[in-house]
Amino acid sequence: MKLLEYEGKELLRAVQVPLPEFGGVIDKPAQVNSILKRLKKGPWVLKAQVLAGGRGKAGGVKLAKTPAEARAFAKAMIGMKMATHQTHGQTLKVEQVLVEQGVKIEKEFYFSVAIDRKIGSPVLIVSSQGGMEIETLASEHPEEIIKKPVDSVYGLLPFAARALAFELGVPAEYVSSFTKTAMTLVKLFINKDMSLLEINPLVLTPKGFVALDAKIVTDDNALFRHADFASRVDIESSPAEKEAKKHDISYVGLDGNIGCMVNGAGLAMGTMDTIALAGGSPANFLDVGGAANQERVERAFKIILKDPKVKTILVNIFGGIVRCDMIAEGILAALKKMKLKVPLVVRLEGTNSDKGREILDRSGTRLITASSLWDAAQKSVQAAGGKI
Ligand code: ADP
Ligand code: MG
Repeated sequence: MKLLEYEGKELLRAVQVPLPEFGGVIDKPAQVNSILKRLKKGPWVLKAQVLAGGRGKAGGVKLAKTPAEARAFAKAMIGMKMATHQTHGQTLKVEQVLVEQGVKIEKEFYFSVAIDRKIGSPVLIVSSQGGMEIETLASEHPEEIIKKPVDSVYGLLPFAARALAFELGVPAEYVSSFTKTAMTLVKLFINKDMSLLEINPLVLTPKGFVALDAKIVTDDNALFRHADFASRVDIESSPAEKEAKKHDISYVGLDGNIGCMVNGAGLAMGTMDTIALAGGSPANFLDVGGAANQERVERAFKIILKDPKVKTILVNIFGGIVRCDMIAEGILAALKKMKLKVPLVVRLEGTNSDKGREILDRSGTRLITASSLWDAAQKSVQAAGGKI
């Protein structure tokens, strides 16, 4: 789950990472006035709260020197549609704006902690050339990037933090400010099970280091350990994804038109691939889990149908722990309760699959049974209107 900048900064503030003084998060231009009363002295910085970097260049970060300027920026920014180089051709509507104190920047650094899957460890990625995107830096000045693994239990140790400060050319009087901030950030990354913590830029000011930006991605699999942000609704997720999360069903929306209901993540991946091989395109990844009973089947149908692109549903269930005849009964019971307006293709395999298929065939319900995964994929593609 990605956190907005101000949410990330709340986590940073809680562990005393120095930040620009917080003004407020507003969703109406008029609210800027009370912030200006509190943060009396300018300049003020207004920052669009969208889940994308590169806001600076897209007009999403503005420095206001007078209250009149701040009001004008707030008015222009709230409701604005923003496209940055990270939004991949789409636009994001700015609903919230963070107002904070403008700080005096002496130098911008790049600081991030990420997971390096190859070595199975968190890594620190830092550079004395902050401000620009890391991708640009990596292609233009790879020699300016320092990458170091950090221990996932001990974090960044003091001697390693000091060595890093020297390598980055941090002036002597600011070394302790750097090491303290760097060690705290690494600890936060570990304690909060993050998959990315990026501070770009981490700036040097006359008072020491300050985190000006915060991009945080948390590991969804560890959300149960973090009551503080686990209840946050992921603003990037679709209505179907939100509903699925509520019921503990793994669901990822995709671009295609064949809704898939499958038990087991591996089978779900295989189903999506086979649909693609047959010339179609899956509308989602959905794993109903082991207990594919009536209630879960019904829920999964509802989730799949929240996506208006779905032209047909393919149920591909392997009866291992659950028996196929019980799944067939579950599907029929779910269909009785809800009227499906799209064709349904069902492939059951595993324990009692013959019995399951027989139950479906005899029920008189309008559905298409398939005898193999390939057969199911081809029939679904046809039912969804042919190859695309
Ligand atoms: P993005 O990465 O989305 O472009 P940033 O938060 O990194 O947004 O802001 C872009 C630039 O704006 C920073 O590199 C910095 O120069 C400037 N900036 C951001 N916040 C402040 C602030 N509080 N005070 C002064 N300058 C700021
Ligand atoms: Mg930034």
